[in-house]
Amino acid sequence: MMRYLTLLFLSACTTVPGTGRSQFNIFPLSEDVRLGDAAWKNTLETEKILPVDSPEHQRVDSIMRRLIAATQQQHPTLATTFEWDWRVIQDNSQINAWCLPGGKMAVYTGMINFVENDDQLAVVMGHEIAHAVARHGTERLSQTQAAQVVLAAADGELNDREMRMAESAFGLGVALPFSRAHEHEADELGIYLSAAAGYDPKEAVNLWRAMEQKDGRTPEFLSTHPSPSNRAAKITALLPTAERIRGRNK
Ligand SMILES: [Zn+2]
Repeated sequence: MMRYLTLLFLSACTTVPGTGRSQFNIFPLSEDVRLGDAAWKNTLETEKILPVDSPEHQRVDSIMRRLIAATQQQHPTLATTFEWDWRVIQDNSQINAWCLPGGKMAVYTGMINFVENDDQLAVVMGHEIAHAVARHGTERLSQTQAAQVVLAAADGELNDREMRMAESAFGLGVALPFSRAHEHEADELGIYLSAAAGYDPKEAVNLWRAMEQKDGRTPEFLSTHPSPSNRAAKITALLPTAERIRGRNK
């Protein structure tokens, strides 16, 4: 038992690609794909999904393909292990988007209506892909008591309770807000991804400002992606590197 635990903890320390932060994650990458896939199937069955020939889906589709190419360039191992998929959810009341572990992306029509241009939509989607690339979902799940249970069920199906705990760690259902450290990391990796895909990284600053200054109800996106202090200033400091990446990919 001791030997098993030692092995488990040794293999549980991984490094986040792109930032070098060391991470405690008891799940192998293949589990990100499997768990994300289970949550995705659930979403496709329960949400109102726009047809793939709708203008909204087509818009997300072209941005997503460029972001996947950028992810393949910057994080090749992860990008080829991911089983990418993407859909638009018809819900104008939700200013939201998320990307599950393993690369399943959902964008709500409320978010599509909110952004001012494709650059801002690419920033949102790049930020979400960054959470998946940095494996924040299974990192958070590793910090909960459900983790061992979910891992033990690796060859079987998750029951409803296990699924809900996993989904909450992934930002679905009764979602936990991401930590400020995770937000910083997703801002940084995400802006590099959208820049590598050819989108204007300066729009990241405008996007977050507009989100924070929105009158009335707080966008769902902000409640699960709280603003770290000085977000705009920190993103501005990343712009020279982002512009260089964008220039190299022109
Ligand atoms: Zn976030």
